[in-house]
Formats: sequence, structure tokens, C-alpha cells
Amino acid sequence: MSIAPTTSSATTARQVLDSAFPQGLGAFIDGAIVTGGGEPITLTSAATGEDFAHFNDPGVEGVDAVLASAVRGAATWAATDAFERAAILREVSRTVVEHADELAALESATTGKPLRDTRVEASKVAEMFGYYAGWADKMMGRTIPVPGNWHTYTERVPWGVVVAITPWNAPLFTAGWNSAAPLAAGNSVVVKPSEFTPATTLRLAQLAHRAGLPEGVFNVATGLGGTVGAALTSDPRVGKVSFIGSVATGRRVAVAAAQAGIPTVLELGGKSANIVFADADLDRAADGAVAAVFSGAGQSCVAGSRLLVQRSVHAELVERVAERASRLRLGDPLDPSTEVGPIITAPQYGTVTSLIEAGLQDGGRRVTGADLPVELAGSALASGHWVVPTLLDGVTPANRLETNEVFGPVLGADAFDTEAEAIERANSTNFGLAGAVWTGDVSRAHHVARSVKAGTFWINSYKTIHVAVPFGGFGDSGHGRSSGPEVLDEYTQAKAVWVPTRAAGAPFPSLSY
Ligand code: NAD
Repeated sequence: MSIAPTTSSATTARQVLDSAFPQGLGAFIDGAIVTGGGEPITLTSAATGEDFAHFNDPGVEGVDAVLASAVRGAATWAATDAFERAAILREVSRTVVEHADELAALESATTGKPLRDTRVEASKVAEMFGYYAGWADKMMGRTIPVPGNWHTYTERVPWGVVVAITPWNAPLFTAGWNSAAPLAAGNSVVVKPSEFTPATTLRLAQLAHRAGLPEGVFNVATGLGGTVGAALTSDPRVGKVSFIGSVATGRRVAVAAAQAGIPTVLELGGKSANIVFADADLDRAADGAVAAVFSGAGQSCVAGSRLLVQRSVHAELVERVAERASRLRLGDPLDPSTEVGPIITAPQYGTVTSLIEAGLQDGGRRVTGADLPVELAGSALASGHWVVPTLLDGVTPANRLETNEVFGPVLGADAFDTEAEAIERANSTNFGLAGAVWTGDVSRAHHVARSVKAGTFWINSYKTIHVAVPFGGFGDSGHGRSSGPEVLDEYTQAKAVWVPTRAAGAPFPSLSY
């Protein structure tokens, strides 16, 4: 394992943050940062463990101002010509491209995600706004034939205010993912980023406003989940809630929203199986397995955290994966050559390390090294939340690693004999987010793809997603879709309009509903 130079520190994070927000952090309301009077929040560098920023969230009182502005924004935006909405969203996309390097640096400095990942994510956010800009002026209804003399048609009506609650693992990406589509559909959005990682969401809102979004159309409520998040997801002024995060919080949000009559889209966790048959290209499968779970330090909802390998090639593949994992470069998130960064939050660091212990206690055998490389252990980064990419073999169905989402760089491997066994094993969790199969047999590939319960499935590949393709889960992984054209149905409702075509003397129907 090699180490990149250790130039990053809390000082760098502070400097990047100060230059982006000279007025400090807060909520974003009506086009301006508003400092709050609610709960104090401290931001900590994942790379060094040092604190680098303090601010107050808007508190439950501040949520009122955020939502009042969003209601005004929703009215303005819905009344804006669809072609103008499309043009503004295209301009948001262009502005994000122009500021992509700045957004990536801000994300890396404040979250610890490697620059090579955040640069891609910034470009993906530009792509999201560009893609949905293309839909904004194509939101069409239908003309429906009915018995009698009627002209009957539908219109697609936005919900009004959409609240998007996002997690810490990909703050900028998820802010774009859950705002571009609702905006294209004519809603205003209030994004509530994770309290651990609010910076790039605020910057995105500023840039979107600068690109032409009217006041109140893209607000940010930076704050704690239990107070600010809870207030946002149960307020009757909200039309729809989209949530990306853990299963436990997602259920809490869904219950609170349902009690207020608000529908939800939930994108939750995963425990995805990556299945390798003996007839696969083992080098590609090994590369894929490493990318599937160790990129983003495993802090990815679609992480391929279960490696199921046909017995005859099991030992060989595990060895190839371990060898590749040991070569991954950990280090300074702002060094472009860094491949694996730290765990983003301190609580998550505790979760990952304790699940590795649980995996070992339950019979898993460690294949990769356990210790941090000496260069890292002896550097300015020593107190960060580092976990070396970890591969445990012999992770059987009884192992806690089989069903618990780790959300860290931890891969559990095991052998299987038959195709049916591999499918049964893949489907043995309540999650249903993603998965993959590696094989040279095209019929087997499609059969396995059809049989595994997952919203996204790859054949001889892993982890590619695109805004044009629907994404979402089954079971504990959530419901609803958050990309592709499908998502436009999530963010609009059909409204039916009836007009008699022979108005004078047209009979009213005797049936009523
Ligand atoms: P989390 O559930 O702890 O928090 C997510 C968000 O919910 C945060 O903004 C938090 O402040 C907020 N929140 C907490 N309590 C709330 C409440 N009572 N009401 C309203 N909001 C509340 O999740 P996390 O730890 O930030 O993220 C990790 C999880 O996210 C993992 O399980 C991961 O799989 C999942 N995730 C899923 C996807 C997907 O697309 N399926 C993508 C990324 C992350």
C-alpha cells in the first residue's frame, strides 16, 4: 500500500471554506446565506480528526422561514414559462461546469473524499442539470378518449415544495441527484444536507441562484436530522419528501411524512452481491470487485460488499482481489493520485471497525493486512478516520457481515457451487439495491440478472450509473426511482380536465364517484 504526500489538514479545510463562505455557514434562503440561532454544529476533518468549522443550524424556527420562502418560490417557478425553466437549468449546468474544480476541492477538503472522485461527481451534477433541463419543456399530458361528448385531457402538476434529505457520503452528488429533476418538473426544492457535510450543497445553491433560479426555488436548510430534518418532513406546506440515507432513518421519515399526508421517495442502503462464475474473465472480475467495494472507501450505497465466487476459482480470485486491494493508494484527499480516503464521519468509523471485528468473531478470515501503513501512521493524517481496504474470506450466511451494511472498505467473500445457490445467496438479505454477475455465458448472465432482487444489476461490470437510467431499490433499499424519465412521475401528479364538447344541453352523467 502506498501513501500520497500529507499536505491536507484542517487548516486547508478551513481556508477552502472561508474562501467559499466569507460570511460563515448557515441556511440558504431567498438567495442568501442566513446564519442560524439553533443547534451548534462542528465540522471535523475526516483526514486529520481535527475540527475546522463551527456554526449554528437554523433551528425549528428557522425551518419556518425556509419553508415560507420555498412556498413563494414554488409559486414563482410553476408560473415560469417551461422554456425559460429549461434555459435556466441549462445555465445551472453550465455554471457547475465552470465551477467544477472549485466544487471538487471544497468537497474533498470538507469530507475527505479523494479529489479524483469528487471531480467526477461535480461533472455528474452538471450532467444532471443538463439532462433534466431537456425534460423541463417536454412535460406533456395526454388526451384520453371517453364515452360521450367530452374532451378529456391530463396535465402534469408539480407538488409545490419538495424536501430532499441527503446523506454525508456524496453530498454534492446527492444534492444534484435529488434537486435537478424536481426543479425540471416545476417544484421548488429545500435540500437538507447531512449535518456532517453541508458545504457543497450550500455552494451549489449559491451557483444555481447565480445562474438564474428565482429566490426561494432552491433553498438549503443546513441542520441536524432530529430537529431540522424532522420539522421539514412533517410540515403540511411540503408536497413531497425525497430521502437518501439509512434504513432506520428512512423509515422514521416515511412515518412522520405519512402522518402529515406527505408521500416519500426513499433511497436507502444495500448489501449487494457480486457473483463470479468460473467461466468469467478473472482479471476483469478482480478489477471490478475492487472498484465495487473499495472506491469511495466503500461508503457507497451500491457497494459490492459480498463477493460470491464459484468454488473452482474461489481461492484464485480472492488472491487477485487481495493483491489489488493492497496496492490501493491511501492518503491526502486533495492529492489527485489518492485512491482511497478516510471514513467521512467519526460515528461511521466506529461502525466500520466494530463490524470488521464482528466479521472476524463470526468466522471470517482476514486476507488483507490490518495495519495502517507506517507512512500514514507516522504522518499528520495519523488521527484521521482511516480503515485499510479489508477482505475477509469465509464469510458464511451466519456471519454478521452477510446481512449488515458496513458502508466502509470491507469485502466479505465466500464460495458457492451452483447457479441456484448463488442466486439464493444473493437474495438472502432484505436489501435489493444492486448486484452484478461475471460470466462468459450470456444466457446465464441474463438469467441471474433477472433472478436477483435489485433495482440495478450489472453484467461483467460494476457501479456504472447515469442520470438517464432509473435508479432505486426494492425491499429495505427503498421505493420510488430517482433518475431517468421515470422520476418525473415522482415529482408531478396527473390532473384530469373534462370539457363537454356539446356544452348546451349536455346531460350530466347519472353515475357519481
Ligand atoms: P442517515 O440516515 O443517518 O442520515 C441521512 C439524512 O437524514 C441526514 O441528512 C440526516 O441529518 C437526516 N436525518 C436524520 N434523522 C432525521 C429525522 N428524524 N428526520 C429527517 N431527517 C433526518 O444516513 P447517513 O449515515 O447520512 O448515510 C448513510 C446511509 O445512506 C447508508 O445506509 C447508505 O446506504 C445510504 N445511502 C443510500 C443511497 C441510495 O441511493 N440508495 C445513496 C447514498 C447513501
